[in-house]
Amino acid sequence: MRKSSAKEPVCRKTIGFMIKTAWQKKPSLFLLYFIRLICEFVQKMQVVILPKFLIDELMLIIGGAELSAHINNIILYAALIVITSFVTQVTLHICFHVKSFINEWFNRYFEEDIAGRCMNMDFEHTENPEVLDRLNKAKEGMSWYSGGVVGILDSLYDIIINVTVLLGVSFVIIITCPLLFPVQLISLALITWLNGRNNRLEVESFKALAKSNRVFGYVFYQLSDFSLGKEIRLYDSADMMCRKAKYFSEKQINVWRDRANKQNKNDWAMNVINALRDGLSYFYIGYLAITGAISIGDFSMSVAAASSLYWGLYGVVSGVQNIIKRCNYAYEYLKFTAYPNAMTKGDKNIGGNNHTIEFKNVSFKYPRSDKYVLRNINIRITQGEHLSVVGLNGAGKTTFIKLLCRLYDVTDGEILIDGVNIKDYSDEEYRKLFAVVFQDFKLFAFSLRENIALNVPADDEKIEKVLKLSGFYDDAQKLEQGLDTMLFKSFDEKGTELSGGQQQKTAISRALYKDAPIVILDEPTAALDPIAEYDIYRSFDSLVGGKTAIYISHRLSSCKFCDKIAVFADDTIKEYGTHDELVGLKNGIYSEMFATQAQYYNDCAS
Ligand code: ADP
Repeated sequence: MRKSSAKEPVCRKTIGFMIKTAWQKKPSLFLLYFIRLICEFVQKMQVVILPKFLIDELMLIIGGAELSAHINNIILYAALIVITSFVTQVTLHICFHVKSFINEWFNRYFEEDIAGRCMNMDFEHTENPEVLDRLNKAKEGMSWYSGGVVGILDSLYDIIINVTVLLGVSFVIIITCPLLFPVQLISLALITWLNGRNNRLEVESFKALAKSNRVFGYVFYQLSDFSLGKEIRLYDSADMMCRKAKYFSEKQINVWRDRANKQNKNDWAMNVINALRDGLSYFYIGYLAITGAISIGDFSMSVAAASSLYWGLYGVVSGVQNIIKRCNYAYEYLKFTAYPNAMTKGDKNIGGNNHTIEFKNVSFKYPRSDKYVLRNINIRITQGEHLSVVGLNGAGKTTFIKLLCRLYDVTDGEILIDGVNIKDYSDEEYRKLFAVVFQDFKLFAFSLRENIALNVPADDEKIEKVLKLSGFYDDAQKLEQGLDTMLFKSFDEKGTELSGGQQQKTAISRALYKDAPIVILDEPTAALDPIAEYDIYRSFDSLVGGKTAIYISHRLSSCKFCDKIAVFADDTIKEYGTHDELVGLKNGIYSEMFATQAQYYNDCAS
């Protein structure tokens, strides 16, 4: 994995990205920061300056001056303190309130953005641990670790406000007690160094935790996933899951503990430095006041200015450290978004419903694997043809379908549709060609209607039609809430748990609803009983109409209804022909498989 080198302009790129995004999406955020800047500057400077005038007036009265000559000034300064404090406080409160909404908006925005990128990235990335780690870092780095757009802009703002206040208090200190500068600067240099160490420890532990966080999250998700309840209970796998969770949780705790111990030492050193700095500063200012070099009002102002100077300097330095730290977290998002998709995207459209598929010398090995799982596949599937793909487990049948659907690109050779390489078609257009039910299809914890139409509003008449075709209509009629019935109980106690066969019929209904010109069913009937399976194959023509259809099935009863059969073995298509042709091949793979299943087939057919 490529590490972000020290030379990479992490902060420049991240801050630039955040400012640009904020400007494009929520420009009002900048107005908020501007108002905040004015309020905080006024607030911080008035705490330093106004009490001096008030104290000097009071000292004059204590020293014997006429009260009537000074009372107006005293009231004016007191009123100024109260009013500025109140107005700035209220304004800041409103700013924070509005900012929290904007922050929430950005959180949602980036959650959706990352989810969208996951949907659009190359399918092979979803199986790549490096990409998954990057995704995890991007999500966490962009959320509470960095605070996202608002977090980074807050850090930038902190630097700006502190620089502004520093300029103000520096002026005050130069005219009252200039020696405060070196004391504050030295202590600041030491604190900065210790703070930097703490920040580095934090970033290191964040990186070290990325993988264990992902595995830990996965295990807990599995434990609480209702749909896995059966596996977990019946295979008694809760203990195994808990052991895994405990292992990774301990790993996390060790990383945290190690970090906390190291940071604790740095924190103690910082406390000692702070105490020394305050002692020296007060001694110096006190000495000036006692020797009459400054007034009591100046003494008060210097004490406040010294504190503001230190905290201003500290604010700038820690602001810089903070923004570097946050940018490093948020940069994970930029790295994730820059992760290259390997698949080229064409822009050709595919018109009409008549399509010829052709595999030309296609060979394929999975990414990060040296082993070819398919070699020299040559096959032509014409419009309306029904092809059955058979072969033993691991023969490459599903891989063949994945290549056709362009979930992966071929390693050698080419796949053509209507004579054009599928890489030249626009992705969106190309996916419209296929309605696929994979063996490991997924249903969502949404309503039956949404699961079939995957869109709202849906065409209920069309849904009923496809439910009838898939043989699920009668069962669906019995559901209390009909098409509104929620699947699974994740979000609705009244949600229904469909049987394996019903789930498969729902998935088939979904494929039929899509009404795509090429229907692909990968082991669609594995969970169906033989009669339901037979019914599906018998009504196959009406099920897919005149569409091109590709079936993968272990049960050769399906092949009888297909025009052609491709037998996958030894990483390639070993036999190809009609049922009658293949059954007639002496010592053929298909004829042997068929003979083994003949009894079963005859039972179904009779
Ligand atoms: P079939 O559908 O005929 O059972 P598959 O196409 O699923 O076979 O698998 C063919 C071969 O490819 C098997 O050896 C399998 O282990 C391997 N394989 C399948 N999916 C992947 C993957 N995502 N990464 C690496 N190898 C895979």
